[in-house]
Amino acid sequence: MTELALPTVPTRGSARAGGPLADRFGRVATDLRVSLTDRCNLRCTYCMPEEGLAWMPREQQLTDGEVERLIRVAVERLGVTEVRFTGGEPLIRRGLLKIVAAAAALQPRPKLSVTTNGIGLERLARPLREAGLDRVNVSLDTLSPARFEQLTHRDRHADVLKGLAGAATAGLTPVKINTVLMRGINDDEAPALLRFALEHGYELRFIEQMPLDAQHKWDRHEMVTAAAILESLAPYGLLPDPVSRGTAPAETWLVPGYVDAAGQPARVGVIGSVTRPFCGDCDRTRLTADGQVRNCLFATGESDLRGLLRGGATDDEIADAWRAAMWGKKAGHGIDDPTFLQPARPMSAIGG
Ligand code: SAM
Repeated sequence: MTELALPTVPTRGSARAGGPLADRFGRVATDLRVSLTDRCNLRCTYCMPEEGLAWMPREQQLTDGEVERLIRVAVERLGVTEVRFTGGEPLIRRGLLKIVAAAAALQPRPKLSVTTNGIGLERLARPLREAGLDRVNVSLDTLSPARFEQLTHRDRHADVLKGLAGAATAGLTPVKINTVLMRGINDDEAPALLRFALEHGYELRFIEQMPLDAQHKWDRHEMVTAAAILESLAPYGLLPDPVSRGTAPAETWLVPGYVDAAGQPARVGVIGSVTRPFCGDCDRTRLTADGQVRNCLFATGESDLRGLLRGGATDDEIADAWRAAMWGKKAGHGIDDPTFLQPARPMSAIGG
């Protein structure tokens, strides 16, 4: 298993006009995460306080047309090949189907996915598929409705399970599940969550809890590490995945004796963002719901594309600004650096 693999030799120069979203360390971003809203209908304790947050004023949020234009610039001029819609909760964005359809009409056609809490997905899965969405990641941290309510401050567990089933029926596959484990809350559920995923043909990904909560309560000593997660899955006898991880954030393992919905060997993934960072292979660029480019989840700076859009900039000028934003991407997220500062925006306003 590879440990930290940060690029160390910066090249000289600057973002190349007409080129892709390259940075000084030789990485090229091709995977765009688009946050469609900072609002959410759950209140996951590791993400935002029960009372919610001060939401972004509507006029600051990009319009559907502005989102569509920026995705077009990213795909047609900057080499983006994958677009993931996220938030906040992307399913509550009114224009979602229209935005997905516009992205699906681009050439070359990007791969399209959504990260969602699954509420409303039962109803939206088929229209999303018809609009051109390829697949979904659904967040589910527990199999217990009572724990779900404790964790999210909402009694919507059944809706999430229905959303998962609806996604599979609509062909939004592979359906992936994102799970964050917290010590003393749900860290006893890893084996059961994996069994649930295997039995339903979903692909489970555990994500290490990151310092991106609005409450700034994250504590490294309290987080459930990738090593602890793998230890709790030991009874499954996981085997190293022979397929290369590439730029994917998850390290994956094969689960002997199980196949996935496509009849392939079943896998489970662990995204060790904190203890096993993968910054050296990062290929992501992020667009917030108010039109700011972030070159890293943990970036403390942003580049304003909304101002350019609304100021009448051409597509070429927008593309150049995006390239410049990515050129400044740091080698690593720096969580282990004593000078690390949690970004001002919480995960819900960045787009996870
Ligand atoms: N609302 C959607 C959802 O629940 O999937 C999309 C946005 S949510 C911010 C995206 C993912 O980020 C979810 O899987 C959530 O569990 C995860 N997440 C949120 N805060 C996190 C944190 N502090 N550390 C790790 N993952 C986090």
